[in-house]
Amino acid sequence: MSTEILEERRQSIQTKEDKGAENAKGNSGGCGGNGMRCDTASVAGAVSQRACVYCGARVVLNPITDAFHIVHGPIGCASYTWDIRGSLTSGSELFRNSFSTDLQEKDIVFGGAEKLTAAIDEAVANYAPKLIFVYATCIVGVIGDDVEAVCSQAEKKHGIRVIAVKAPGFSGTKSTGYRMACNALMQLMLPHADQPKVQGVNILGDYNLAGEMWIIKNYLRDMGIPVVSAITGDAAYESLIKAPAAQLNIVQCAGSMMYLARRMEDELGVPWMRASFFGVEDTSTALRQVAERLGDAQALQYAETIIGRRSVEATDFLDRYKPHFVGKKAAIFVGGGFKAISLIRQFNEMGIETVLVGTQTGKPEDYEIIAGLVNPGTVILDDANPAELEAFMKEKGADILVGGVKERPLAYKLGIAFCDHNHERKHALGGFEGVENFTREVNLSLNSPVWSHTRGADSYAATAATQAALVRQALSATHV
Ligand code: SF4
Repeated sequence: MSTEILEERRQSIQTKEDKGAENAKGNSGGCGGNGMRCDTASVAGAVSQRACVYCGARVVLNPITDAFHIVHGPIGCASYTWDIRGSLTSGSELFRNSFSTDLQEKDIVFGGAEKLTAAIDEAVANYAPKLIFVYATCIVGVIGDDVEAVCSQAEKKHGIRVIAVKAPGFSGTKSTGYRMACNALMQLMLPHADQPKVQGVNILGDYNLAGEMWIIKNYLRDMGIPVVSAITGDAAYESLIKAPAAQLNIVQCAGSMMYLARRMEDELGVPWMRASFFGVEDTSTALRQVAERLGDAQALQYAETIIGRRSVEATDFLDRYKPHFVGKKAAIFVGGGFKAISLIRQFNEMGIETVLVGTQTGKPEDYEIIAGLVNPGTVILDDANPAELEAFMKEKGADILVGGVKERPLAYKLGIAFCDHNHERKHALGGFEGVENFTREVNLSLNSPVWSHTRGADSYAATAATQAALVRQALSATHV
């Protein structure tokens, strides 16, 4: 059996060339111009690792703990639940439930608007939420239920916010879903635009997985900087509507939240900055830059105290583990470009070489940075499919894959280690605490004795090696 790269996919896969980030055709090694194709619809026929538009919207909005999330569509769409998006709460547990209108054949023929109205009425009667999101899925986009009209009527009837999230899975990429969610958040905030400014920041694009939002909040508290609104990890209706009053937006997951940050700057006058709280270097830089952007000398002094203590502890911890990582190689496939960049830096700190890196929704500027960070020979790919990931991991000799739930089986089939850096993670990987957790987890998986039993001549990995050679051969015909 051979694995071939689809012609249309070739431009989304690059190998960093020897001369810095420059390749033979003068490409920068990133997207744009003659560079890598990214930030576009998936190629038909390639089994993308990306999730759908609705899923992208749900990722952003589901962590709002006291919101009621109604999935208007067949029951299957509602399988994206809290169980696979495990953000933590310090308040309401309502968001841990999944509600669906469970559209059936009759509803598809005659329309599902009445059923949706009944579902909203029932939710209000039984749970009294202040905020309901209604997600329009694929079939709703096809039959044309006027979800916005239903939501608008429900708002008037019940006197609460009922916001339509028009996210049919087929209507774009996962990034489209992020934008739909950001539009829904703006719809929530705009009526509260005219409120006096207060001291403090919003944190955008952290979803409080394993309590990571709390870690960032603790650092900011120790620097004397209040958090006005967390968007959306451990968020609640009352805190979200205060977001327009903040001095600054700190954007952690740029892929999902840059659109909201730009809209909030234009329409609500809240400036933004990007920050990553993954790894010693990024966390230290983020804390300093937040204080600097606020022009707060006292906060900067506190930041230096935190960094001075915590970065030394984390670096000492890393140094103890480094001997276990000598000669090891990592593959990264994650949702957004900013996380991939942080992970490359984190692996560099650990002494592990990144040999493959890709994302679902990376932007041209992300790939430019990635190309500048990795060594020559590293495979960089956008919106990969499983066959490509398997083939290149094998070819590059990756010892560990960092990804999410859909990537886990690929690693295990190849008989290599895996680390979940997505929504299913159980240990906080952010901040200085996260450096220790990540290092420990990578070491446990990477150096598990089980891998010595899974890489025999008859193993799946051996077959994949043959496939990898064929893929490389196919690519070399046109590859720059
Ligand atoms: S692709 Fe469509 S049918 Fe599938 S989960 Fe997404 S919205 Fe639902």
